[in-house]
Amino acid sequence: MSLIETKDLFKIYRMGGNEVRALDGVSLNVEEGEFMAIMGPSGSGKSTMLQILGLLDTPDSGSYKLLGKEVSTLTEDELAVIRSQTLGFVFQTFNLLSRTSALENAGLPLLYADPNSPHDDPKMLLEEVGLAQREDHKPNELSGGQQQRVALARALVNRPKLIMADEPTGNLDTKSSLEIIGLLEKLNKEGITIIMVTHEEDIARHAHRIIQMRDGKIVTDSQGQGIPAEVREERAPKVSEDTKAFFAFTPKRVKEYFHQAFRALLANKVRAALSFLGILIGVGAVIAMLAIGTGAQKSMQEQMAALGTNLLILIPGSVQLGGVQQGTGNTSRIFLQDAMALAKVPRVKQVAPEISGRVQVTYSDKNWNTVLTGTTPNYADMRASNPTFGRFVTEEDDQRRNRVCLLGLTVIKELFGDADPVGEHIKINRVNFLVVGVLPLLGSNGFQDRDDRIIVPVTTAMYRLFGREYVNMVDIEVEDPGDTDLVTNSVQAFMRKQMRVPNTQGNENAYMVRNMADIQATFNSITRLMTLLLGSVAAISLLVGGIGIMNIMLVSVTERTKEIGLRKAIGARRLDILSQFLIEAMTISLMGGLAGILMGWGVSLAISFFAGWQTIITPFSVILSSLFSAFVGIAFGLWPAIKASKLSPILALRYE
Ligand code: ADP
Repeated sequence: MSLIETKDLFKIYRMGGNEVRALDGVSLNVEEGEFMAIMGPSGSGKSTMLQILGLLDTPDSGSYKLLGKEVSTLTEDELAVIRSQTLGFVFQTFNLLSRTSALENAGLPLLYADPNSPHDDPKMLLEEVGLAQREDHKPNELSGGQQQRVALARALVNRPKLIMADEPTGNLDTKSSLEIIGLLEKLNKEGITIIMVTHEEDIARHAHRIIQMRDGKIVTDSQGQGIPAEVREERAPKVSEDTKAFFAFTPKRVKEYFHQAFRALLANKVRAALSFLGILIGVGAVIAMLAIGTGAQKSMQEQMAALGTNLLILIPGSVQLGGVQQGTGNTSRIFLQDAMALAKVPRVKQVAPEISGRVQVTYSDKNWNTVLTGTTPNYADMRASNPTFGRFVTEEDDQRRNRVCLLGLTVIKELFGDADPVGEHIKINRVNFLVVGVLPLLGSNGFQDRDDRIIVPVTTAMYRLFGREYVNMVDIEVEDPGDTDLVTNSVQAFMRKQMRVPNTQGNENAYMVRNMADIQATFNSITRLMTLLLGSVAAISLLVGGIGIMNIMLVSVTERTKEIGLRKAIGARRLDILSQFLIEAMTISLMGGLAGILMGWGVSLAISFFAGWQTIITPFSVILSSLFSAFVGIAFGLWPAIKASKLSPILALRYE
């Protein structure tokens, strides 16, 4: 059995109307132990021949048996396995990975090889090719001759039967050329078959057999003798029949992928940092926005719970007159005496009318615009507003329309700074008022500052400030939460009767009564919507970050086409290349995601510290954005990674 047996190999390139027969029916046998040189003028098909023999390319037709096995019909991944096990390559341009030490370059094929198949120690091989002191040097720190020796060590690491050398001395000076050819001769003596393309006569002379090619055909064949079997046992190349893919995510391999991902990212720091930033901002925004939304929801709930379940609120609705829907409050007004009379409705404990509006307040040279509420003494208990200093409005204030007011903490801060306001006079809408009390701290609920408020007697607000006979709403406290339905109905009936609202269809909602459960449900759905909205805006920025990653990876794939070609030549399969680029994309997105979680957390803390909003980071939002950032890495890294894995080894190697 010959090592190589080819019969009628054809490879035809069609360019426009032209047909180039790069291989025009080549039949060739190569025995084990031969040292063969392929010569011929430029364009005669030498490289094409070597690439097909080296399984980097496939013929259009013809048969190629390597070690007795037909290989012309195998898939790309099957070929990769045979390349890894049987072949070593040496290229004219060395094709070493830059920024990678000589030792790592020499050991690179091990990454893609079956860990159980025989291999040599790359360190020992570097010593053997005379680079004992240079193993930590990067390619740009080595001479051409030294780089080619590293490439030779790399070709040897998997103990190949065959070495394919494409113009191995083409880029070297005479002295280095002789050293390299000397090394090849030595390897041949040790039993490795060598096939070398060269156009230099004196290099070819070292081979034992020279074939000349012209126009895709072999024109002469010197048929020299190979090294006899008895002298070629030193290196004892393995014979392996196993071409099944032996891919496995061994921990070593995964570690190496991450190692390479970090190196690739470090090689392009600015680029990697920018796409990292995209993910960081995206994830940070998701975390912070969800924290704000959830916080707002929680403080709303707390606020509602503080008011208790006994509270009902009466507001004007709408009535139909003559079939025409009237605007809210036009005819269904709540006059003060009716509001007060509601206290007599059975099962009602107490009531507090409210009239509100925006007012301008001044104190010496300070000016502030805030919300003023006119109400009665009951309000203090019903709305958790008992003053921390001074007193609340009294019945007497209401009867006399006294110009007294209580201030919320924000108003005090704006008008008085740190000074004590009680006993001072301020102007509300240019009317003089005496400050009699300080309202308790309520805090913010994420939507509004609840301490930005003023309370005055209801009659004062109606007649001295707003000039109105009616109030906006009435707070009604029932004796028992179980009474709410009963009281709702009797309050509505009472108001309709008082206001003589016709008892016709369409007037059921002349007065509306809301209970806290209703209001809470409404607020809940509002805050949920808001959280969702904030979250989706943030998610969009994460998506944009993902597109950034894809962009970077696509650039990276194009830039590293040659590297991909080399990796495939030394045995990498599609899945190897795919994993490498995918892990690179995921590394960016996961690191960005992690940093984003920290940033989002920091931003939420800052917001609650400086703005006083309640923010809550839920495990849900952390898990969601971690998963999302991993997903972004996979989703947006997949396309470039697939693109890279599909590159044909020979086209990738030739890419300029
Ligand atoms: P050599 O190595 O002897 O210089 P090659 O094997 O590289 O020759 O090329 C043989 C012929 O095939 C040349 O005419 C070349 O132009 C053509 N050829 C090689 N590769 C391609 C390709 N990918 N597309 C089109 N033509 C090609």
